[in-house]
Amino acid sequence: MKRYSIFSLIRNALSFHDGWERVWRSPDPRPEYDVVIIGGGGHGLGCAYYLAKDHGITNVAVLEKGWLGGGNTGRNTMTIRSNYIRDVSVPFHDYSIELYRQLSRELNFNIMFSQRGMVTLIQSAASSRDAMRRANTMHIYGADYRVLSVAAVKKMLPILATPANARFPVVGGVYQPRAGIARHDAVAWGYARMADAMGVHVIQNCEVTGIDRVGNRVVGVRTTRGAIKANKIGIATAGHNSVVAAMAGLRLPIETKPLQAFVSDPVKPILEPIVVCGGYGAYLMQSDKGEIVVGGAEDPYPSYQQRGTYAITEEIVSGMVETFPIFKRMRLMRQWGGMVELIPDSTPIIGKTPVEGLTIDIAGAGGFKTIPVAAKTHAHVIATGHQHELARGYGLDRYEKGRLVLETGVGSRDLRRV
Ligand SMILES: Cc1cc2nc3c(=O)[nH]c(=O)nc-3n(C[C@H](O)[C@H](O)[C@H](O)COP(=O)(O)OP(=O)(O)OC[C@H]3O[C@@H](n4cnc5c(N)ncnc54)[C@H](O)[C@@H]3O)c2cc1C
Repeated sequence: MKRYSIFSLIRNALSFHDGWERVWRSPDPRPEYDVVIIGGGGHGLGCAYYLAKDHGITNVAVLEKGWLGGGNTGRNTMTIRSNYIRDVSVPFHDYSIELYRQLSRELNFNIMFSQRGMVTLIQSAASSRDAMRRANTMHIYGADYRVLSVAAVKKMLPILATPANARFPVVGGVYQPRAGIARHDAVAWGYARMADAMGVHVIQNCEVTGIDRVGNRVVGVRTTRGAIKANKIGIATAGHNSVVAAMAGLRLPIETKPLQAFVSDPVKPILEPIVVCGGYGAYLMQSDKGEIVVGGAEDPYPSYQQRGTYAITEEIVSGMVETFPIFKRMRLMRQWGGMVELIPDSTPIIGKTPVEGLTIDIAGAGGFKTIPVAAKTHAHVIATGHQHELARGYGLDRYEKGRLVLETGVGSRDLRRV
């Protein structure tokens, strides 16, 4: 990969970037690949990167209907954490944090990973019980998760209001010091750049419109840029997973709903950790630019729109200003949404499908944090035909066998949010 000196940077700036090397190429699709990955978000691009890096498989195409990271990868609120409760989930999510920690160096691309910690406010007795249970599970696995008193929460968040008559009183908190954020589109770009450098074809503006089968085996895809043959096809299309899987005759147990977020005007540094407000299911953090980034629950009905419903915005904002009155006069600058795939047991689905040669990586509503580990384990199953040990129990067949990995919070939707 070409490196630039300060002189070449100045030369490029003065020549209006004439001759500036592209970060990744823009190849025309070949008629055939060993592996086709559908979806150019973090999960699809990461999978292509790990296929090349871990398994030496480089005759791979990532097909993206729009632009890289233009789906949920570039729309999320960037929160990375591992406070899960089931045996398989804690090591899986913990490993993702570890991979994130090393990712800037590994990809030689600054993903701006910042482990600023996350405080989850406990705002009801039910949440309190769930938080204790979660903390105990995480301690068994050696993961960091501290239960906090109200005084300790106040110390970490001096701007927090705790009036006695609050709708959602703060009765305590939990803290994960290793939780953090990373620049979301940089994650997609970093993987794309490195996968491209290893020979993978990253192809934008190429929508998959059909998946061809011979009997029960996939043999290729049809796209807006022609037909492409491949005996191995991986799907990583987030809110479109069920639509794309249906092209191969596969029905998935998921539904798609819009999830929204918004940002304020930039303000001076005031909020260090990420904060999850249990009572009303909102979470907020301050970006490097100073904006307060806020997210909440998904809309209550299925839809493919990429914006949120006003009722949810109102619920999030009203709860936020009750807990942090200092933000009352702050202006919201932008609001947007993404189509997230809701999985009934709130656990990713990664692995083979009943259609031979077809694999899936269904991230769910909180799949930014899992990009490295899900991409790596998806690549493993594509390359070896076997489920990766870390994704044990995450296969689609758990729905057939009734072995769900229930990660739903007990009476506290916040704890499974973000
Ligand atoms: C508002 C919001 C906030 C969120 N906050 C967090 C958070 O704080 N922490 C967290 O962990 N997760 C969060 N998430 C979830 C997270 O963003 C997603 O789970 C994750 O980005 C999914 O990545 P992906 O690569 O699977 O999907 P995407 O990034 O959506 O990529 C899928 C790609 O597939 C493409 N595609 C679809 N159909 C086709 C087709 N037929 N042919 C070719 N390409 C196709 C799409 O254009 C898209 O680019 C949030 C999501 C939203 C919307």
